[in-house]
Amino acid sequence: MKTYNILVPTDFSESADLAIEHGLFLARKFDGVLHLLHVAELPTISIPDFPTDLFDIAWEQGMNELKALVDDLEGELPPIKRTVLAGIPARPAAEVILQYAEESEADFIVMGTHGRRGPRRMLLGSVTEEVVRRSPCPVFTVRASRKAWPLPQIQRILVPIDFSGGSRKVIESASRFAEHYGASITLMHAVDLAFFPYYGLGSDPLVDITKNMTESSEERLIEFAAELQAAGIIANWKTVDGHPAETIRSLADEDDFDLIVIGSHGRSGFDRMMVGSISEKVLRSAHCPVLVVNTGDGIKQLEAAA
Ligand code: ATP
Ligand code: MN
Repeated sequence: MKTYNILVPTDFSESADLAIEHGLFLARKFDGVLHLLHVAELPTISIPDFPTDLFDIAWEQGMNELKALVDDLEGELPPIKRTVLAGIPARPAAEVILQYAEESEADFIVMGTHGRRGPRRMLLGSVTEEVVRRSPCPVFTVRASRKAWPLPQIQRILVPIDFSGGSRKVIESASRFAEHYGASITLMHAVDLAFFPYYGLGSDPLVDITKNMTESSEERLIEFAAELQAAGIIANWKTVDGHPAETIRSLADEDDFDLIVIGSHGRSGFDRMMVGSISEKVLRSAHCPVLVVNTGDGIKQLEAAA
């Protein structure tokens, strides 16, 4: 049987603590190994004339903190691997985390939406943003809030799909989670007329166009849901009118979903993977955990270009 590797990078913030709880939960569910990684952010690895290497001090401190964290975890623990690595301006934390993910063959990365600097300035911390952009594996992000503790059970998963090529991969990841959590899946598609380029040009009145778009989305959602049901997963579907990011967020809030699984729509840029604007907005605004699945082929294209 496959061993799952679950990576939780921590800066010892409250968000990261929450990520560790989710990581632990996942490691138990998936019968996997929990990798805890701290990147000591240093000005440089060594400063000339400084008596001890800065990293030696940071390493010891980081290892002690990781040990204290693990000692505080309750219940039966899965195998846990602790690592402290150095991050420097030329090779920042996100870079180190991504490399570790690749080398350890991580199946998921679990991270806080924020870290030590906290949510004051931004809706998403820069380390998480970069990791989500470039991660080869799905990234599970959690937002620390009053509602986040105690850990909510994941019983209902919302999977927004846009019927692009990556949709199947997103549904596949969602179904693995659904199986392990014993959760149901709701597939949803937002019919956004503002996006329909030919609106007003053809002879069809607007009502007909809306009706056609909704009906054809429903047909495809029904097909996907039937595939999930055939695999033994409780699945239903829903179409909603409106802008995708807003409808996804409000549906997740109103219907109390425990997890959103969404594609990154990774497209290859000149030098990095981009995250689609819808996933980015959902990631920044959702109150529940969000699993971003890399649906791009940007990584391969980057390698080919190198
Ligand atoms: P900023 O972008 O200003 O640093 P922030 O500190 O609020 O904002 P991030 O640094 O992106 O946000 O932190 C988000 C998550 O990234 C943390 O919860 C943690 O999981 C991970 N993380 C951040 N820094 C490190 C680090 N040095 N080592 C390991 N994981 C980290
Ligand atoms: Mn930070």
